[in-house]
Amino acid sequence: MAEPLFQRLALIGIGLIGSSVARIARERGDIAAEVVANARSQKTLDRVVELGVADRVEPDPRRAVAGADCVMLCAPVGAYAAIAEAIAPHLAPGAILTDVGSTKQSVIRDVGPLVPEGVHFVPAHPVAGTEYSGPDAGFTTLFQGRWTLLTPPPGTDEAAVAAIETLWQRCGSMVERMDPAHHDRVMAIVSHMPHLIAFTICGTAYDLAGETKAEVLQFAASGFRDFTRIAASDPVMWRDVFLNNREALLEMLARFTEDAQAMARAVRWGDGAYIEQQVKRGRKIRQSLIDLKQA
Ligand code: NAP
Repeated sequence: MAEPLFQRLALIGIGLIGSSVARIARERGDIAAEVVANARSQKTLDRVVELGVADRVEPDPRRAVAGADCVMLCAPVGAYAAIAEAIAPHLAPGAILTDVGSTKQSVIRDVGPLVPEGVHFVPAHPVAGTEYSGPDAGFTTLFQGRWTLLTPPPGTDEAAVAAIETLWQRCGSMVERMDPAHHDRVMAIVSHMPHLIAFTICGTAYDLAGETKAEVLQFAASGFRDFTRIAASDPVMWRDVFLNNREALLEMLARFTEDAQAMARAVRWGDGAYIEQQVKRGRKIRQSLIDLKQA
């Protein structure tokens, strides 16, 4: 077995993503010699102890990061600024501070200025998830064959970036570096918009009359079901994602609205060829996902 990349990995937040990383690190042994977990609530920490996914739990984030050579923020992105402010003075010199947040410009904006001299900041985003949250939701194959995008600010220590790259590769992930603004635009369309649509369509269905509501649930298998799965995601996490990728999300929503209007026009004027062409395009996109093994 390879030497552990880190002596102590501190996870600030230990839900779906944090506990998946913890499980992998504990199972493999070559990511960190010790895994320390921090969360907001004692309930989560108690559960982490019961599940045995970390070597140690620490209710105080400042103590959790003390002596850690890698600190990974795994909380909702809206909590990052306050967490960074609390832990910054306690980060060990030479340590790597990284994260898993779904937005990247906001993380660089909120955390970047608080990173002390001599600490390496390597923002990252594993593009893998489920609609479940909390420490019970994590599992060791979550990142298998999925991408992790790294958005290190210019001038970041190359060895630190390489270490985070290796960490994610050992988690089973493929890794790519990306400009943070580009990351946020891409994620706005492939992840944030689909969630926005799912939350909205579920709300629209819910607002319909009582009798229809029952039918919506009864016949849900005809397409609605897939939206309800996405819509079951964590409200705080998604609130934070939307508010922290505001511009890109609004841009994609405007483009989507335009395209939806074009479809509405085709429906109104009986333009079957347009509708068929759009459905064909959808099928092609699905096929290319299958070919890329991302389906
Ligand atoms: P989660 O399952 O809801 O877990 C969140 C964790 O953060 C919990 O342990 C929670 O503690 C903790 N937390 C919340 N506020 C905190 C604070 N102020 N200080 C310390 N800990 C705090 O969330 P998740 O799905 O793992 O998401 C975590 C991060 O990964 C988010 O930034 C998200 O954008 C990103 N991400 C998520 C997905 C996905 O599909 N879910 C995919 C990729 C990236 P308590 O339990 O005590 O509240």
